[in-house]
Amino acid sequence: MTRKIVAGNWKMNLNYSEAKTLLKDLMAQKEQFNADVELIICPPAPYLSAFAEVLKDQEWVQLGSQNNFFLDHGAYTGEVSPTQLKSLGVKYGIVGHSERRDNFNEDYSMLSKKVKALLKNDITPIFCCGEQLQVRDSNVYKEFIMKQIHDSLFKLKPEEISKIIIAYEPIWAIGTGKTASSEQAQEIHHLIRSRIASQYDEKVANKVGILYGGSCNAENAKELFSQADIDGGLIGGASLKADSFLTIANAFE
Ligand code: PEP
Repeated sequence: MTRKIVAGNWKMNLNYSEAKTLLKDLMAQKEQFNADVELIICPPAPYLSAFAEVLKDQEWVQLGSQNNFFLDHGAYTGEVSPTQLKSLGVKYGIVGHSERRDNFNEDYSMLSKKVKALLKNDITPIFCCGEQLQVRDSNVYKEFIMKQIHDSLFKLKPEEISKIIIAYEPIWAIGTGKTASSEQAQEIHHLIRSRIASQYDEKVANKVGILYGGSCNAENAKELFSQADIDGGLIGGASLKADSFLTIANAFE
């Protein structure tokens, strides 16, 4: 384990009043969050501005975006630019979630542009990768996952990729209640880290945070986070309740 990171992906859930209640519940427990953990919440984009005001000067949690455009400004109706996110104090950005790859046809070249745009604005990309069930069953899953990483990230300079967080999220585990076993997750995390070491070097590979995502919850986080190459989790459903998010964030040995 190189870092300890837990990020909550709230997706398109919660109306504004519910989201404010969740933030309040989290803040009420802020002293109980392990200060060694990089804690991140990624609420829906319309709430970022108000959340940034509330969390101004707070160190225990950082804000992340769920998506961003790859240019800083211009005539792109409906898009949110990394410069705008930076101006709010957003420090992390999810890129390439499988829901965006599938529903919005985001391919490797668009994702690599989004990653670069975030880095240029000092926002840490949380780059998602992962395979569908039929890919896992076909036994080419390792190369499938590595191609996603290779095509979108391996042109980055060493000092750029060192800043990245990668989230391994098997699609068959997302929102299904079917978690990858700790051995299945560790196998992929180890593969990712060793390929980064071969492409760059070990120092760089050890700086990259590698998260597991896919039905990670208060019951299974401890076992997953105990694996050598699992640096924490990207948490969907279980991040929508303050208590389970706290248990997950504190699940490191
Ligand atoms: C996610 O979509 O990033 C995710 C990990 O979801 P869940 O935890 O609900 O499976």
